[in-house]
Amino acid sequence: MLISKNGPQTQPKPPVLLPPVESGNEMCGEDPAAPNTQTLIREIRELAAQKKAVILAHNYQPGAIQEAAHHVGDSLALALAANKPEYERIVFCGVHFMAEAAKVLNPDKTVLFPHKAAGCSLADSISLESLEEWKERYPDHTVVTYINSPAEVKALSDICCTSANAVSVVRSVKNDKILFTPDRNLGAWVARQVPEKQVVIYDGACPSHDVLRGVNVKKTQEAHPDAVLIAHPECREDILALAHEICSTAAMVDRVAKYPHTKTFLVATESGILHQMKKAWPDRQFIMADGCVGCRLHCPYMKMITLADLKRALVEDIHQIEVPPDVAAGARLALERMMAVPRD
Ligand code: SF4
Repeated sequence: MLISKNGPQTQPKPPVLLPPVESGNEMCGEDPAAPNTQTLIREIRELAAQKKAVILAHNYQPGAIQEAAHHVGDSLALALAANKPEYERIVFCGVHFMAEAAKVLNPDKTVLFPHKAAGCSLADSISLESLEEWKERYPDHTVVTYINSPAEVKALSDICCTSANAVSVVRSVKNDKILFTPDRNLGAWVARQVPEKQVVIYDGACPSHDVLRGVNVKKTQEAHPDAVLIAHPECREDILALAHEICSTAAMVDRVAKYPHTKTFLVATESGILHQMKKAWPDRQFIMADGCVGCRLHCPYMKMITLADLKRALVEDIHQIEVPPDVAAGARLALERMMAVPRD
């Protein structure tokens, strides 16, 4: 106890860090294994067949939605998977910019989005106006925009990238001056991989990743000293410095194969990815990197769509995604330039 002229004072207590717990995507949404869930999934699949619809689900979706989908993956892979003549409709279970990108790359198909409110804080951190302002400040820079962005921002960009190909895309640009948007953590990581470029980075971030701190991850690592930490490059630099592997969600499932003798993996990205990791590697243990079960590494937008929403979207043909033709043409050009870049 401290004694001051104002009397005794209590020593401030250090913050309490709760022990890490095993957590997973099954805590979100319907239980994929429950009988009523299985019945609903069968009905959804039958409806999809009748309506020549393909159901796409992002890796971060609740487990039951992933089970109902024909394809599960990252946004670009899904948009490309839908590009088959037998599909008339695409039902995109993800967030708005993903459904928009699917429409941009598949303009002749009807794209249905089951929950209108499923947005993205990262995509919302940039707008046409804010990008115009940054372009005025950096007029001689080539604009590289992460796919997690609105279509009109893509249309105003020179080239798009994903977290899987961002380094290759930046390296492929002839100009040495790059304006990277909108994710500052991904941009900073890319800039460290490509030191020969001058990279100006826009000030956006994904709150689900950006809130993660090294102090929490270290605590989880102390509890699992032999675990391998796999992190998404949308995490901050202090997390990436602790990681054994830094990769996109699409690569995370496969990256486990590199560690045949490792039992436990700590995962620093949105919790939905655990559904696919556990399915692919049932003999391994996957733990959220911060030991948190709810707020960090949990995107509320990604957990909005329910099986009932998905079924309703198919029955009623809602909510249809439209992108103005001029915006779609500009966004398509930026996406096509990205797809033409060979991976390093
Ligand atoms: S996890 Fe982040 S980037 Fe992904 S949809 Fe949610 S807010 Fe957007």
